[in-house]
Amino acid sequence: MKKRVVITGAAGFIGSHLAETLLDRGYTVIGIDNLRTGDTANISHLANRDFSFIKHDVTNYIYIDGPVDFVLHWASPASPIDYLELPIPTLKVGALGTHKALGLAKAKAARFVLASTSEVYGDPLEHPQKETYWGHVNPVGPRGVYDEAKRFAEAMTMAYHRYHGVDTKIVRIFNTYGPRMRVNDGRAVPAFMSQALRNEDVTVFGDGTQTRSFTYITDLVDGIIRLMLSSENDPINIGNPREMTIAEIADTIIRMTGSTSQVVYKPLPTDDPKQRRPDITRARTLLQWEPTVALEQGLVKTIEYFRTKVR
Ligand code: UDP
Repeated sequence: MKKRVVITGAAGFIGSHLAETLLDRGYTVIGIDNLRTGDTANISHLANRDFSFIKHDVTNYIYIDGPVDFVLHWASPASPIDYLELPIPTLKVGALGTHKALGLAKAKAARFVLASTSEVYGDPLEHPQKETYWGHVNPVGPRGVYDEAKRFAEAMTMAYHRYHGVDTKIVRIFNTYGPRMRVNDGRAVPAFMSQALRNEDVTVFGDGTQTRSFTYITDLVDGIIRLMLSSENDPINIGNPREMTIAEIADTIIRMTGSTSQVVYKPLPTDDPKQRRPDITRARTLLQWEPTVALEQGLVKTIEYFRTKVR
């Protein structure tokens, strides 16, 4: 019997790559998305495979016919620009949507995986970030809608695990990039790529000394599937420990696209984390996972995709 996986947020960047890889590995996939930030163009190539799509907002009751083996809860606005524009839907999908997705997993006796985020660490005072770090989050700042929704989602997930015995997993995803990111989603890599490909100014926020660690999508998906198949219930960081400044990634993208763009500096958004790098000891030892795609390799593939999208 083929295993059946439900993915909420299946038409998004990560959700669509997860769906495709799980189909490649012999799973049946049921994708759900309300298409608020997702796009059917990301999943149209899956139409003739063992894939079905339900347009639905998972803050409402989720009905799925037949058995389900895994529920992967990926639905959420995830770029700072999106969640600033959609603060209440972001809070609702993290809270009510996680409750509905957990309810589905419980009803079907399915395993549950929560897409959590490095944002649960906020603007971290501990560096690099281990899973044991509780974070430094401003609950009432503009990013609080995402950070606190995901922190609530983690608490809800652990409650279903402890109280209802659901086999739950929590992946804390660090900055990830690759094909199918939206050109205008506002995150650093798509913003810099679309600006560089148009030879427009590349907008670095702040002085560009803040750091991030960028993971290529295929590495992330591999880590998520390892976690999904593991016996771990505590949160696990998945991210590439190569840390760089935002100025450095901007320069790298300008160079690799052969662009004539100049860097311009814009104000740093409120509560923008100053540094971010995952400690991946747990992923290494418990999942035998580590990233294999070098930044330059991943950027080449992503630039290829953006060249087809940017005009
Ligand atoms: N950033 C930037 N220019 C942009 C978009 C983002 O300098 O056009 C910066 C942003 O302020 C942050 C970093 O790049 O310091 C990564 O931002 P992103 O939105 O990709 O995700 P975050 O890690 O902040 O969630």
